[in-house]
Order: sequence, then C-alpha cells, then structure tokens
Amino acid sequence: MPLLVAGSIGIDDVKTPAESRKGLLGGSASYAAVAASFFSPVRLVGVVGEDFPDKYRVMFREKGIDQEGLKTEKGKTFYWAGEYFQDLNQRRTLAVELNVFERFQPELPPAYQDTDYVLLGNLGPALQSRVVDQVKRPRFIMADTMDFYIGSARPDLMALLKRVDAVCMNDGEARQLTGENNLIKAGKMLLGHGPKFAVIKKGEHGSLLFSGDRFFSAPAYPLEEVFDPTGAGDTFAGALAGYLASVGRTDFDALRQAVIVGSAVASFNVEAFSLERLLTLKRVDIDARCRAFRDISRIDEA
Ligand code: AMP
Repeated sequence: MPLLVAGSIGIDDVKTPAESRKGLLGGSASYAAVAASFFSPVRLVGVVGEDFPDKYRVMFREKGIDQEGLKTEKGKTFYWAGEYFQDLNQRRTLAVELNVFERFQPELPPAYQDTDYVLLGNLGPALQSRVVDQVKRPRFIMADTMDFYIGSARPDLMALLKRVDAVCMNDGEARQLTGENNLIKAGKMLLGHGPKFAVIKKGEHGSLLFSGDRFFSAPAYPLEEVFDPTGAGDTFAGALAGYLASVGRTDFDALRQAVIVGSAVASFNVEAFSLERLLTLKRVDIDARCRAFRDISRIDEA
C-alpha cells in the first residue's frame, strides 16, 4: 500500500568534528521518503525552490517516489545548517532559512487523498493538520515533531496529537513536550494527549514504544563509527511507516516489528553524510541487519 510522506525538503550544510559538507540534500521528507521506499510506494508532499537540483528529483524518481505532490515555487529551497559536537548526540543549529517553506500550504493532489498510511514529517503542526484535513479515510497517521515546533507552536501540536494514531519524537523532545523527565512517564503522558501509539527515540540508546499498558524497548544497532547523525530520526520514521504500509497492519506487534525495521534503516543512514548510504542500500542489507537485531537482543531462558 502507498505511504504519503509530507515534510520539509531542504539543502543542508553539516559540520561534524571530523568533516564539513555543504549543499547536501536534507529535510525530514527527503530522508523519510527514501527510507520508506524500500518497503512501499511513496507519495511525496513538500515544496522546493527553483534552485532545487534536478539530480535530486531524478533520484526520487529512481526510488519510485511519486512527486506529483512536490511543488516548485519561485525562490530558494529551505536551508538548514547544523554542527555536531564531539558527542554526536548533541548538535546546534547554525542557520535556518525557511525560504519557500515559509509560505508553504500543503495541497494533496486528488490521487493522494485516498492514501491509507500517512507520515507527517517535520513541518509546522498547523500544516501537518492541513494534510490530515485532506486525506479521506486514513487507516494510520503518524506525526513526527521536533524541539522547534514544541517551543513555537505548542497549541497547534496539541490539537494535532488528538488527530493522529501515532506520535514519534526523540527523548529530549518528549521531555520538553510533557515536562516529565522520566521517559516511561513521558511516553504514557504522550498517549494521554490522544495518539494510540507513542514512540520515543533515544539515539544510540534505541527507542521505546508505548500503547495502552503495553511497552516495548528496542535497542539501537551498535556502530563503531557514526559519520553524520542528521536525518536518523526521519529515516527511522520513514522506514517504520513504510513497513506498516507494506504489511497493511497497525496492531501492537506490527508496530514492534516496525520499530526494529526503523532502527535498522536509521543505523545505515548515519554511516555516511546526507542520504548517501540510503542510496547504495539494498533490501537484503536491511533484512540482514533486522536479523542481527534479533540476535543481539535475544534473551534465552535461564
Ligand atoms: P533530524 O536529524 O532527524 O532532526 O533531521 C534533520 C533534518 O531536518 C535536516 O535535514 C533539516 O533540513 C531538517 N530540518 C531542520 N530544521 C527543520 C524545521 N524547523 N522544520 C523542518 N525540517 C527541519
């Protein structure tokens, strides 16, 4: 089944302690769409400026990503620059230029309006709600969010949470949103705001899945070297949602499996800058890493 992915599409400059790279493809929807494309057909909703390089459109096409919902507006593409500290879990934003993203009003082409599975990547929560307004009978909507929107658009975000099936954010964002330091309590509090599922990502420490009284803790794949953590969260969310669309299920066990799939694909993404690793990745590599996840986290009876 197809997955609709809405979010930012941008050009990033990324600095890590080891290397600086400029003019990279970035944005929540770019990572999520490519990650999801390993599992299901993707319908992309976003905006770019006239300067958006053709090579990225070609790449999306080669990944089978439908770009009918990708608008090109006069002006420049969204731009973000970030710098990672020695501890790659910590980063600071050096610059943001919203450019065409500032005036973006998502509009779904008629062919997208019956999509059953929807991933709302990072985008203002009012715009995420606008996407929800336009899908007719969705079976599953997951929203990602980030510190910037929790700080600047909290009422819109709270309204959005009532309209989605799942919410996904990192540990710092869950603490910021709920005001609760303990992540188990924070996960339960997120459920209290409306969604049936809450996923809290903990970077190199894995992720937590909450639903009702049920709980699942997934490890992260242990990597010796991380080159660029940018987009790991978006990749995780894209693969998770793409997997659910591919199996056509939204029950707790499917979500458990989807969290492992998301972790596996995200672990590849950080092995290179931008989407470079995702572009050489094969489905067999993902399947092998999912099996490795099972091995590293299996606990035999004593
Ligand atoms: P992540 O590392 O998962 O937080 O995602 C990083 C990506 O988010 C980068 O490629 C940025 O282009 C994009 N990004 C940064 N700030 C924003 C924002 N305010 N809204 C949407 N996307 C953003």
